[in-house]
Amino acid sequence: MQRTLVGMLLVATTWGCTTPSRSYVEPPPLAAQPPALPAPARSVAEVASRVAGHSIETRPIAYTRLGEGPCRALLLGTIHGNEAAGTPLLERLLIELPRTAAGAGVSIVVVPVVNPDGHARGSRLNARGVDLNRNFPCANWREHRTRHGVEPASEPETRAIIDLIDRYRPERIVSIHQPIGCVDYDGPGRTLAEAMASVCDLPVRKLGARPGSLGAYAGEESGIPTITLELPGHASRLEDGVLWDRYGPALVAAITPPPPALRAAGADATPTGHAAE
Ligand SMILES: [Zn+2]
Repeated sequence: MQRTLVGMLLVATTWGCTTPSRSYVEPPPLAAQPPALPAPARSVAEVASRVAGHSIETRPIAYTRLGEGPCRALLLGTIHGNEAAGTPLLERLLIELPRTAAGAGVSIVVVPVVNPDGHARGSRLNARGVDLNRNFPCANWREHRTRHGVEPASEPETRAIIDLIDRYRPERIVSIHQPIGCVDYDGPGRTLAEAMASVCDLPVRKLGARPGSLGAYAGEESGIPTITLELPGHASRLEDGVLWDRYGPALVAAITPPPPALRAAGADATPTGHAAE
């Protein structure tokens, strides 16, 4: 995690820099405000690494914010701790995005590891044995002994993501899972799912909003196009470069703003009825 944060801060200090020869300056502590540098005329580079909250075992839930464009996206990795291929993919996105035209016009918030305790022990669940993707406060939350939490949003990791949604008001959300191998969507996300699937080898599949899931909370109930990017199980064994080549384009597609005409028309017209499960 330390290396991850340092990497993010290096991105933070380089994106938008207009003077390549400028010497490296030690970044400020996470809690400090970034120095007031004059913004380039067409900056896409509001960048900061911050902490959204802390896990049960007090690990920080770090996130990075990039860009100042009107198209706002929230990207989440490893909410299930044993489905970790999304983490290197998102870390690579933070490096690659400033090099692509897709970075213009977007503002993204990236949480590479939503469930740091589960990630540390290779477990789907958090340190209290709760499935965080069943712990969101929505109508279909249901008790399941302790596995869905003692109540909706009982877990600090869940609340950290809810806080980010409330604060940054994303108009699209992508949460990366494994191992089903498809692009699933909840809420009005079909068009976005099809755009992502068109640039990778995964089909669009409607899996249905699981009880207490992010898809039910943000997609079905809040109307935010919410993508569950289900990478295949073997994605965990791919070298980082191969992983990026195969699935990075889908992430770039996920954050590429729609054409102005589509944007003016609002979200797509996908029916959003609750799924069978
Ligand atoms: Zn999962």
